[in-house]
Amino acid sequence: MRVRTLAVALLAGGLALTACGKEGGPGDTGTAPPQQVATDVKVDGSPTFDKMKNRGRVVIGVKEDQPGLGYKDPTSGKFNGFDIEIAKLVAAKLGFADDKIDYKAIPSAGREQALINGDVDYYVGTYTINDKRKQQVAFAGPYFTAGQDLLVKKDDNEITGPETLKGKKVCSVTGSTPIQKVKSEGLTEPENIVELQTYSLCVEQLEQGAVDAVTTDDAILKGYASQSPTTLKVIGKPFSNEPYGIGLPKDDKALRDKVNDILDAAISGGDWQKAYDATLGKSGSTAQKPVLERY
Ligand code: GLU
Repeated sequence: MRVRTLAVALLAGGLALTACGKEGGPGDTGTAPPQQVATDVKVDGSPTFDKMKNRGRVVIGVKEDQPGLGYKDPTSGKFNGFDIEIAKLVAAKLGFADDKIDYKAIPSAGREQALINGDVDYYVGTYTINDKRKQQVAFAGPYFTAGQDLLVKKDDNEITGPETLKGKKVCSVTGSTPIQKVKSEGLTEPENIVELQTYSLCVEQLEQGAVDAVTTDDAILKGYASQSPTTLKVIGKPFSNEPYGIGLPKDDKALRDKVNDILDAAISGGDWQKAYDATLGKSGSTAQKPVLERY
């Protein structure tokens, strides 16, 4: 009996190791220890929470092509990354175990509408908190702060920062803050701006030599660079502040307060650190603990 238990344990261990994938690859993003699922949770006056309760499941909007943050492993079909850990942590404290979560991949341009339509209960996917978006949705957080940066070919020594982009083809994503900055600050000429739906499409264009740079948050770009360390590099001089929030339906103040309480406890109690260390922190960079913006 003992031997069989050991064999099963070894087999399970072996499978787990295989699932980890190659060092530095997207499958390498680990998972934080599972959260204890809260019971008898009440969020008085939250229509979104009532909807989740009645459904018995939570629908979370995420990204699926951002290694280290929100990534769907093509082999296992499972989602991993820091944003996914934050999404799971919040779900657990609202009373939903991992097997009661449905992830819905929604690109940057679709986030506000998905929340307005009620297609997702909340959204966790490199979503910068700003006043313009606050007119349509609400945010809990921030739970992390990134900064806009540039991804270029490893052998590129002409692009060294945003001031060197003139005459270069620059790719970013519709509905994102980085594309906004490229346009409003005229970082390159309008005819040199390539606007696509996802960052992975931009990275493909960069690898094929169809564009010279991809611009978005450093945290996202580092994930792509770690997938192709011999061909791509991040410049590493962030030129904006991108505080990441959890997107929520605009008028659900009760749920926003509850999610902020959950984040507060995770930041002071160590779960936030565990989520970070298991995912983004694996690249060796340390993150400052976020300070919540309550409104
Ligand atoms: N954080 C930025 C934004 O929310 C860029 C990343 C993204 O598009 O998700 O627009």
